[in-house]
Parts: sequence; C-alpha cells; structure tokens
Amino acid sequence: MFENLSERLDKIFRNLRGKGYLTEDNIKAGLREVRMALLEADVNFRIVKNFIAEVEKRALGVEVMKSLTPGQQVVKIVYEQLVNLMDTEGFQFKVFNNRLTKVMLVGLQGSGKTTACAKLAAFYRKKGIKPMLVACDVYRPAAVDQLKILGKQIGIPVVSEDTKNVLKIADSALSMADKEMVNLLIFDTAGRLHIDEPMMEEVARLKTHIKPDYIFFVADATTGQDAVTIAKEFYDKLAFDAVILTKLDGDARGGAALSIKAVTGKPVAFVGIGEKISDLEIFYPDRMASRILG
Ligand code: GDP
Repeated sequence: MFENLSERLDKIFRNLRGKGYLTEDNIKAGLREVRMALLEADVNFRIVKNFIAEVEKRALGVEVMKSLTPGQQVVKIVYEQLVNLMDTEGFQFKVFNNRLTKVMLVGLQGSGKTTACAKLAAFYRKKGIKPMLVACDVYRPAAVDQLKILGKQIGIPVVSEDTKNVLKIADSALSMADKEMVNLLIFDTAGRLHIDEPMMEEVARLKTHIKPDYIFFVADATTGQDAVTIAKEFYDKLAFDAVILTKLDGDARGGAALSIKAVTGKPVAFVGIGEKISDLEIFYPDRMASRILG
C-alpha cells in the first residue's frame, strides 16, 4: 500500500534522524522533499501546501529544536498531521438495534460499489446483524446479476425486480425487510462511467424516497485526484456521510486517501483491500498514517 510514498518518506526521515541536531535549513530542506513526495503521490496541491506549512510551523518550534532526538520529533509531527488529515472526527457506522438501518452506496461504475455492498453485508452479518441487499443499479446490465451472484455466494438475500423503476424496487425491499425482520438494508445504486445529470437525479430521488440513515460514496483509490474531484461533485448533490475507499491493494499512490476528507469534509469509513468479500476493513487514520510512515 502506497509503497512509493512510504519509501520516499522513509529515505527523507532516515536522513533527518541520522543528523545529531537539526538546523532550520535541514528541516526546511527535508520538508521540501516531503512536499514533493506528497505531490507525486497525487495529494491535492492545496492540501500539501497547508500540510507542509503546519508541519514546518511546529517543526521549527522549540519542541523539535531543543529535543535530543530532533529527527524523531519531525517524524512524530508528520505522523500527527497525517492522522489529522484523515481524521474521522468520531464518525462511526452503527446499525440500530430498535429499527431498520438503511444504507445507500453511490459512486461511478467500476469504483467497486456492487462489491462493496456485498462486503459490507457480510462484514455486519459476522457481527450478528441480518442484512439484505437491494439491486437498484438497473442501468449497468450486469450489475443486478452480479449482486445476485454475490448474494448467493454469501447467503444474503438480494431484492431485485424486472423494472427500471428504482422507487418501486425500493418499496418492495422495504416491505420485505419488514417482513423478514432484517436489520440492515443496503441499496446498490446507479453508476455510470461519468457523472451525468439523469443518474444523479435518480439517486437523489431514491435518497428522498427511502431516507437512508447513511450514504457512502464509493471511490476507487487507484484513480487518485479524479476520485477526489468526483467525490466533491457527489457530495454537492447527495451530501454523503462517509467514503468507502476501494482498491487500496492496487497501485494507489495515496492521493485519494490523503485528500478526500479535506476536500469533501467527509471521512473515509471503510477501505477495500482486495476482490474477496472478506477484503473490507474499518478505516483507522492512525493505522493508515503508521503504514504510510512504514
Ligand atoms: P461497480 O461498477 O462500482 O459496482 O464496481 P464492481 O463492484 O463491479 O467492481 C469493479 C471491479 O473492481 C471488480 O472487478 C471488482 O472485483 C474490483 N474491486 C472492487 N473492490 C476492490 C478492491 O478493494 N480491491 C481490488 N483489487 N479490486 C476490487
């Protein structure tokens, strides 16, 4: 995960730690390299600018200059600022125990949305929750079948209907969830290759109709800043609650993970780390920052 960024930072920090004491110039030179490494990892340039300014302000203060291990202190500051950048601000996905929890997954085609629906259902079933999946991605021809196949594989029911009217499918799902005493209803929604108005309108209509408790935006981490730009557009239209960042096992450089919270104001809640159903993890900023810093 983020090998290039980790290697670059490791080299920079090994160099800083190797010096007995640090001058202002040493710190500034080191941070210039950190800046380059972050930009090359495709982190949004405005975020990089603020990040470096913040780290520099702290690193040039007494806490580092007077320290016996100044290089180590700089690493600590970078770690803390990375955690801040990805802060989840207490966001926690909770399945209610006294009523149905409704979740909508939104995002572009290919982002891993359908897979994430099944992963999320399986993840919470392990915790004793009874999930059901709803196939509302009626435009991508294979999406409904794909969800049905995944549902069958993991033994979780999938609601689908031979109609393009997603509100009708949603109504059936809601009454079925009620009948079957389901706790968690997960809606897969329309995805296109590019954002388009009719898709957004349909998803917005579905949102108004079902009043979900949570909306997750599914973003493909390997697409870097594109994922962040798309996230912003989805946020403006749908005000999602959090992000599921997929394909972190692929050749993601880190840009999406490090920028999405600062750009949209909404945190990453889960990460997809493979194609298998079990490849879903809750996102912890401190663990991610540790991974990045190696
Ligand atoms: P959708 O069009 O957004 O519903 O996307 P899909 O769920 O069909 O996923 C698109 C492709 O990405 C599929 O081949 C998935 O197996 C793959 N995929 C989804 N999540 C992950 C992940 O976390 N890691 C990897 N490596 N592949 C993933």
